[in-house]
Amino acid sequence: MMSNSPMVSTMMPVHLSINHFLERAGLLFGTNEVISRRPDKSYIHHTYADIYKRTRQLAQALTDLGLNKGDRVATLCWNHHVHLESYFGIPAAGGVMHTLNLRLSADEIAWIANDAQDRFLIVDDVLLPLLNQFKDKCRFEHIIVVPFSGQVHTGPELDYESLLSQTDATHFQYADHHEDDPVSMCYTSGTTGKPKGVVYSHRSTVLHTLVGCLGDFWSLKSTDVVFPVTPMFHANSWGIPYGAMMMGAKLVFPGPHLHPEDLLDCMQYAPPSLALGVPTIWMGLIQTYEAALQTQPDRWRLPKGMRSLVGGAAVPEALIRAFDKHGIWIMQGWGMTETSPLCTVSYPKSEFADASEQEKFRRAAMAGAPVPLVDLRIRDDHGHNAAWDGQQVGEIQVRGPFITGSYHQVPVEADKFSDDGWLRTGDVASVDASGFVRITDRTKDLIKSGGEWISSVDLENALMAHPSIAEAAVVAIPDIKWSERPLACVVLKPGAALDTQALANHLQHMGFAKWQLPDRYELLDQIPRTSTGKFYKLKLREMFPA
Ligand code: ADP
Repeated sequence: MMSNSPMVSTMMPVHLSINHFLERAGLLFGTNEVISRRPDKSYIHHTYADIYKRTRQLAQALTDLGLNKGDRVATLCWNHHVHLESYFGIPAAGGVMHTLNLRLSADEIAWIANDAQDRFLIVDDVLLPLLNQFKDKCRFEHIIVVPFSGQVHTGPELDYESLLSQTDATHFQYADHHEDDPVSMCYTSGTTGKPKGVVYSHRSTVLHTLVGCLGDFWSLKSTDVVFPVTPMFHANSWGIPYGAMMMGAKLVFPGPHLHPEDLLDCMQYAPPSLALGVPTIWMGLIQTYEAALQTQPDRWRLPKGMRSLVGGAAVPEALIRAFDKHGIWIMQGWGMTETSPLCTVSYPKSEFADASEQEKFRRAAMAGAPVPLVDLRIRDDHGHNAAWDGQQVGEIQVRGPFITGSYHQVPVEADKFSDDGWLRTGDVASVDASGFVRITDRTKDLIKSGGEWISSVDLENALMAHPSIAEAAVVAIPDIKWSERPLACVVLKPGAALDTQALANHLQHMGFAKWQLPDRYELLDQIPRTSTGKFYKLKLREMFPA
C-alpha cells in the first residue's frame, strides 16, 4: 500500500552551531598557532590546542559564576587570543558575547552596555582607566580582567588567568541550544540617532563564515596566516575569527598597536598571507612603507602575494594600485554591522579574464557582486527596482539569513526596513550587468546641489589619485542658492604643495564637470576618524558649518 504521508527529509536534525568550529580546531589543528602582540610589544604564542582548552575553561568558569542562557557577557578588549576565546567560550556556555567599542566615549559605552543589559564584563587591564570612567553607571555583576600586560590583576575584580587556571573543564558540556539562539551582538555606530543592537545567531554566524571562506572571497586555508587589523570589537572583525577557527588558519593579532610602523613590524615577525583592514589604515601603511623605501630600504618587506580584504568604506583605486605595485592584491568588500557584515565582494569573475589592466582596477575599486545567500536590489526614489545597467541609482536593499530583520529591543522602523521586509541600508549605488555594485554614497553623505546629486565618493577617489594627496574627504556644506555644495578636505603628502587651482584642474582633468567641483578646499593635517577608523564626515561638517 502506498502511503499518503508527506515526504520528509531524511537528514539529521542537527542544529548549526559555532561550537562545532571550536571542536574541529581542538581535534584537527592543535599545533597551529595563534600569536598576539602585547602592550609592551612582545609576542605571546598559543597553539589551537591551548586555545581549545582555555576556551572551554572560560565557558566552564562563566557557568560556575552563574551565567544563565542568554546572559550578555561584554568584552572591552583589543584584538588578541583572549578575545578569540571569548568569541567561542561565551556562546559555549550559552551566553551572548557583546563586543564593546573601546573607541567610543565612556558615556556612549555605558549607554550601550546598559541597553544590552550586560551582566558580565571581560576587560583588558590596559583598558581599566577607560572602564573606571563609566563602571559606576553600569550593572556588571562580574568583571574579569585580562592581565594582557603580563601582570596578575590584584584589584577586587577577577583575574582572567587565575580564573582559568582554577577551572577544570575536562567534563565541560556545551549549553543546549537551537541554531537560532543568539551568540553575539554588536551595536551600530549610531551616526544617526542612538546606536542599535544587532544580534547574531549560531545559524547566521555559521552561514556567514561558510560563505566568507569560499574560494572567490577569503579563500581561507589552514596554511594561511591571517592578520586581522579590523577590530574584534566591531562587526565581528568581519567574521574572520570564526573562519580562522573553522579552517585552523594561523592568526596574528596586533593587540593595541595599530600605527603603520607597528603593523609593518608585526608583518615582519609573522608575514601574513591574508590581512584585513579599513582603507584609512591601509593608506597610512602604504605611505609609511613607501617613505621608508627611500631612507631605510631594508627595514620592512611587504609579504609577497599577500591577499588583503579591505572594506568598511570606499576603497580608492589609487590605494589598490599602490599595493599592486608591491605584489599585493586588494579585494574590496561591502557590508555593515547589520549584515554580519559581508554582503558583496569585488573579485575577478571569469568573464573579466580578458579585461584590460585598467578595467581590472576599475572593477577592484567597486564594491563587487553579492555573495551567496544575499539577495540584493536597488530601489529608486519611487520604490521601483532599478535595472542592473550600471546607470540607474537608488538605495541598496538586502535580504538573507545573515542579515538582521530587526534591532535589539527597538520597534521596526519604516526607514530601516521595506514593507516587504528587506533591510534598507542607506547606501546609494548602481549595479551593472555583471552584478557589480558601485557605491555612490551613503544617503546622508550625498551632496544635493541645485537638484542634482554629486557623489562625495567619486570626488574623494579622484582627489586621492593625485600623487601629492595622502587623504581626501568631501562633505556637503549648506548653500543659499544651490541648497548644498561640496567642500573638499585634503591632506597633502609630506613636502607636497598644491593650490586650489591645481586641485580644481586635476578634478576637471579626471572628468568632473565644473558644477561638480568643490567650492572650497581645506588643507588639514589629518582627516578625523570615526570609532571604527573611517573618515568622520559628521565631524567635518561640524568643523566647516558653511
Ligand atoms: P559605521 O560605519 O556606521 O560604524 P558599519 O561598520 O556597519 O557602521 O558600516 C557600514 C557602512 O560602511 C555601510 O553602510 C557603508 O556606508 C560603508 N561601507 C562599508 N563597506 C564599504 C565599501 N566597500 N564601499 C563604500 N562604503 C562602504
